[in-house]
Amino acid sequence: MKKFKEPIFVTKSFLPPIEDYKKEIKKIWDSNWLTNNGPLHNEFKKKVSEYLKVKNSTLFVNGHLALDIAIKSLNLKGEVITTPFTFASTTHAIKMNGLKPVFCDIELVSYNIDVTKIEKLITEQTSAIIPVHVFGNPCNVKKIRKIAQKYNLKVIYDAAHTFGVEIDGKGVGNFGDVSMFSLHATKVFHSIEGGILTYNNNNYKEKFDLFKNFGITGPEKVEVVGLNAKMNEFQAAMGIVNLKYIDDEIEKRKKIAYEYRKLLKDIKGIKVLEDIEGVKHNYSYFPILINENEFGINRDELFDKLNEYNIFPRKYFYPLCNEYDCYRDDYNIKETPNAKYVADRIITLPMYSQLSIDNIEKIVDIIKGIKNE
Ligand SMILES: *Cc1c(COP(=O)(O)O)cnc(C)c1O
Repeated sequence: MKKFKEPIFVTKSFLPPIEDYKKEIKKIWDSNWLTNNGPLHNEFKKKVSEYLKVKNSTLFVNGHLALDIAIKSLNLKGEVITTPFTFASTTHAIKMNGLKPVFCDIELVSYNIDVTKIEKLITEQTSAIIPVHVFGNPCNVKKIRKIAQKYNLKVIYDAAHTFGVEIDGKGVGNFGDVSMFSLHATKVFHSIEGGILTYNNNNYKEKFDLFKNFGITGPEKVEVVGLNAKMNEFQAAMGIVNLKYIDDEIEKRKKIAYEYRKLLKDIKGIKVLEDIEGVKHNYSYFPILINENEFGINRDELFDKLNEYNIFPRKYFYPLCNEYDCYRDDYNIKETPNAKYVADRIITLPMYSQLSIDNIEKIVDIIKGIKNE
């Protein structure tokens, strides 16, 4: 097999036709309004809430600060149950608010929080669960709601990967007390950088707006210690334009995912994720799990070999959050064995709408070639 001439990275940000974006940002020159709840911010908020099928949403400069502000606004205390198989953001947001992240293990099927293991981690100090809809697959939201009700806990979903995902026709942002979507450039849908909190309780709106604007409530009044986390008009303009392309994007990604699954099906030692009945997926990532005993070589060896062919997938999520230098002294990795198992075997393959079917075939042929070397 010959290597790719140009490097193939794990993702490639979507950019709309430049004329579309120019037309949209022209409005910023007309209004001379660059940030602080401008007209494009308000238009984007309305349109994106409709797309996500949610009652309320608040926009932020990025997903991480949105999550941070959700935690602050809900007044969480003590311990928060979450998973270590996620991006640094989830754990950092909990820790930065002076709370203790308590790591629950994940399921081997979905890589999401194992709902059968949550209850035994609940203590007098527990105030919330922050589960992650990993790779766009929704968690077991029904069971999580039951547990939260029984123990009077708040639920904040890290929905960074799940833009446009629906469960039985319901936007995934309707579950839990609050959901956080990331609109970072590498996500399925983006506003360059950006974040959204979605929620059903109308009372949250005021708090979120307060925290994202320095806690200022009036020209001569500052009520709480806040942050600056406002979405600006250039971000909102990108969001408005990209919304026109999102359905097409997801459709293209779906074709790619199906092609990968078809071609990878017969390779021993590779496990792929399948669609879940009743779920509208967004095909945000294409993770595969490498079983060394069946595949012949391990994940790290495959990863290094793929690099030689100019293919640059990611070990995502590896390492686990409880293995980070900044957390490992406080945790025992043995408490989350499934998470460890998955993190040590996972590779997310290149996945973006511009990836051609030819190139997918070539990537899979290279994987087969490496296996048979
Ligand atoms: C991207 C991401 C975030 C953070 O979002 P930003 O918009 O980049 O701040 C949080 N959690 C997960 C799981 C993510 O993938």
